[in-house]
Amino acid sequence: MNKKKDPRTIAVNAGIATDKAFGAVTPPVYLSTTYSFEGYERPRAHDYSRTANPSRDLLASTLAELEGGAGAVVVSSGMAAVDLVLSLLGPNDLIVAPHDCYGGTHRLLSLRRDRKQFDVLFVNQNDTKALAEALEQFPALLLIETPSNPLMRVVDIQSIVERAKAAGTKVAVDNTFLSPALQRPMQLGADFVIHSTTKYLNGHSDVVGGAVIAADKADAETLAAWANVCGVTASPFDCYLTLRGLRTLFPRVERQQITAAKIAEYLHAHPAVAAVHYPGLASHPGHALASSQQSGFGAMLSFELAGGVGAVRRFVESLSVFTLAESLGGIESLVAHPATMTHLGMGAEARRVAGITDSLVRLSVGLEAESDLIDDLKCALDANHACARNVQQNSKTDPLER
Ligand code: PLP
Repeated sequence: MNKKKDPRTIAVNAGIATDKAFGAVTPPVYLSTTYSFEGYERPRAHDYSRTANPSRDLLASTLAELEGGAGAVVVSSGMAAVDLVLSLLGPNDLIVAPHDCYGGTHRLLSLRRDRKQFDVLFVNQNDTKALAEALEQFPALLLIETPSNPLMRVVDIQSIVERAKAAGTKVAVDNTFLSPALQRPMQLGADFVIHSTTKYLNGHSDVVGGAVIAADKADAETLAAWANVCGVTASPFDCYLTLRGLRTLFPRVERQQITAAKIAEYLHAHPAVAAVHYPGLASHPGHALASSQQSGFGAMLSFELAGGVGAVRRFVESLSVFTLAESLGGIESLVAHPATMTHLGMGAEARRVAGITDSLVRLSVGLEAESDLIDDLKCALDANHACARNVQQNSKTDPLER
């Protein structure tokens, strides 16, 4: 069959029934750190697992295929993936990054800039004038994060790529929030796609990992060589688990985003909520762009609670189906308070500039029943602790008995 496979089939079938030794349907995990040489100066395809490993290679080639890249490098965390792209820069280079990017990315860029390893400009990429002024400085790299974490701002990848290319700037897109199931930045001209595979790609909150996919083969080779030099390549078992999670990426995300849309509508109509940030809402400023650039609106959203920090504390402590925790993209629903959790590291002033207030709450919507999630939010918004306890008890009863 020569027809190009559907991405859903690529995700499910990666490495299936390829084992020549025993005919194992599911590809085995290769834990060996080292591989025998066939003879003097005759290494096999693999010699040492930091450099290359069959389990990691399989995950890398699958991610490259899903994102439409020439190659991918799988590393030990999303931050290691961001840092791997930064390794292409030198002290005379400038990087343009979103003013409201993930707090860890903001911290990494700021700390490396403070050490004079390159210069950074944090820019609101929806501000055409500010972006044009930044590009006049001919940056080496422009980093995009869309939808942004945690404000769900959407920027036009294709238009930014066109402007960046005219300035000779390479573009990297952090695609963690949507995954290739919902957005494929390389089709819009991006040079690199970055993932925290910890999130949707693995999807089960049991592996921390990252990946960089490069559109250009030479870039992919440079990144792979540098990942080997620094020793940041991911462990084989983590790759095996991530590939197992990746097989269900499409159905997970499809279901999760249906529930997220329902939750966004529910919150939008609730009097205790001052604003909802979800690109699937017609009122979201990036709704039209997200409709054309993405193939779905995703399962992340954030909202402002009326009532300030006190209301936030009551709200997060009243929830019982949503868990108060960092991270996102897993099968379980999580709630986070960016100002004191995920975006604490970027500092109060940078949060103010980005528009991340102390009243902002972020939700990662999982695979639980929509009704339980909405009941949980309702109870917490009403600050009704007794009701919250009931939901918890109900969710623990056998579903067949209900
Ligand atoms: N990029 C984005 C958009 C993220 O949300 C995160 C983590 O939340 C990262 C990168 C970093 O990933 P990791 O925690 O796997 O290092």
